[in-house]
Amino acid sequence: MAMSRSAGSSSMRVLAISDKVVPILYSAGIRERVGGVDLIVGCGDLPYYYIDFVVSMLDRPCVFVHGNHGREVEYWSNHRTVHGPSGAVDLHRRTFSEAGLLLAGLEGSLRYSPAPRFQYTETQMWWNIYHLFPGLLANRLRHGRWLDVLVTHAPPAGIHDQPDRAHQGFRCFRTFMDWFKPRYLLHGHIHVYRHDTVTRTRYRETEVVNVYPFRILELERARVGRSARFQEARP
Ligand SMILES: [Zn+2]
Repeated sequence: MAMSRSAGSSSMRVLAISDKVVPILYSAGIRERVGGVDLIVGCGDLPYYYIDFVVSMLDRPCVFVHGNHGREVEYWSNHRTVHGPSGAVDLHRRTFSEAGLLLAGLEGSLRYSPAPRFQYTETQMWWNIYHLFPGLLANRLRHGRWLDVLVTHAPPAGIHDQPDRAHQGFRCFRTFMDWFKPRYLLHGHIHVYRHDTVTRTRYRETEVVNVYPFRILELERARVGRSARFQEARP
């Protein structure tokens, strides 16, 4: 029996994962640990086998973006060539709707080394954002709002980011939030080593959350013309 709590529930429970394989999730006990979830969100820099495992164990839909350490293809020891976690949707430059929740995604980090895959200048990231415009406009016309959740790997500039080039956030993400007012921006990329590190910041109408290494978020279902409302659930 699927673990969905969608039927008859007014909220959606989301497991967000990022950057690190967490042993308590990469284990047979994952269902007991996280309970039932409705959606899995990957915020980047995770091996495919890990996303694959989480998706198959929880048997729920999954969307993800690549981090700056992403690879197009993974070669597994069983001689399999893997182009992505099975059953998961690569959200980069895409809008996607799951059970009434409107999502969009932007992969990678700010460019810090020459000719890299999954790294972007501000201008290149704007180009990625332009690709979201048709989907966002369609959402606005159909649902009365642009989107609920922006899924990224890197943070916005000045929010949870760090001074070194590789960990600076994108200025264009701030403009994106100004314009499209997602209720949530979920990102990874910034590893957290201290318990007093800020990982949750309100920016205008958006709750910016560093999900490293995982978070369980309880989302109230959106009504037409209104964004989803969220609160964090205790794992
Ligand atoms: Zn990263």
